[in-house]
Amino acid sequence: MATKRDYYEVLGVDKNASPEDIKKAYRKMAIKYHPDKNPNDPSAEEKFKEAAEAYDVLSDAQKKARYDQFGHAGMNGAGGAGGPSMDDIFSQFGDIFGDDSPFGSFFGRGGGQQQGRRVRRGSDLRIKLKLNLQEIANGVEKKIKVKRHVACSTCGGNGSKNGTATTTCTTCSGSGQVRKVVNTMLGQMVSTSTCPTCNGEGKLVTERCDVCFGEGRVLQEDVIPIKIPAGVTEGIQLSVTGKGNVPPRGGVAGDLLIVVEEEEDEFLKRDGNNVVFDLHVNFVDATLGTSVEVPTIEGRARITLDPGTQGGKILRLKGKGIKELNGYGRGDQLIHVNIWTPKTLTSEERSTLERLRNSPNFQPKPGKNEKGFFDKMKDFFQ
Ligand SMILES: [Zn+2]
Ligand SMILES: [Zn+2]
Repeated sequence: MATKRDYYEVLGVDKNASPEDIKKAYRKMAIKYHPDKNPNDPSAEEKFKEAAEAYDVLSDAQKKARYDQFGHAGMNGAGGAGGPSMDDIFSQFGDIFGDDSPFGSFFGRGGGQQQGRRVRRGSDLRIKLKLNLQEIANGVEKKIKVKRHVACSTCGGNGSKNGTATTTCTTCSGSGQVRKVVNTMLGQMVSTSTCPTCNGEGKLVTERCDVCFGEGRVLQEDVIPIKIPAGVTEGIQLSVTGKGNVPPRGGVAGDLLIVVEEEEDEFLKRDGNNVVFDLHVNFVDATLGTSVEVPTIEGRARITLDPGTQGGKILRLKGKGIKELNGYGRGDQLIHVNIWTPKTLTSEERSTLERLRNSPNFQPKPGKNEKGFFDKMKDFFQ
């Protein structure tokens, strides 16, 4: 925020002004710069908020004393003027405009939901997006086709024929809400509800736009480019702000929500940021050593199996896994060696193997370095 104006200057009163004068001055400002009187005028809204902030401080004896002594510096972090929200501002109107004031009904009050004057927001759009392992590993840019409600360009989004001005709803005087006074045993009760005439919009379309039939929005197919970061996981939701639907007759668009789905890979399984491949070799290859091709995220790669490779061994291709989401690291590819044991044999194969059965080198002699199942699990999950 830029330098702040002096609160007394904002309200146009001098330092010795009485609480009544301050209240009066603020009331004048609030009416002059009220958003309903100055639609689409950001400078009026700024002044409106500025006045509310000034009044918030100057109407509170304690805050006022602090401000008088220390100026704006005294207000920071002291629960003072943090810039009240529009809701806060409207909720204090009950105090400013008395119950019998003509402004009471004009502004609405009571601190409740001021539905009629809130900026309305359209609905979110949610789509599922399937990504393959390579797209997940490296991140990807996609162009997504979505059908969404956008403002009608013929009427500029207000629903009136050729964009002519809408009229203020007479039922609720534009507030979007109606108040009903009910006599009960406990006295008069006031209930507020959404105006049935304008559905809370505060405005009415007299003659409808030919293109959108008064909706102020049309369905349109949009192609929206989105950047998917590397390392996303199943179920993660990405959002593109303002690419959802706009509400009828003006307001801000909702968001486009993209829910990630992982497409199963034919060969590779994901385990966190690592990918796992199950390699099956016969025991001759494992015994004599060999070189085999394995699938990786980036295509095929050739790896070497040393002579005497044991079943259950896990080889690691460093950095061939998935990039860390929002990080710098990258997982590995793990190759799990399985020894394939033949299930049927010809008589010739059988006799060859029978000759080897009792050969001394074929007797299992696991060394200290040939870790068992539990040790391997420990190595990988610690
Ligand atoms: Zn239209
Ligand atoms: Zn109304």
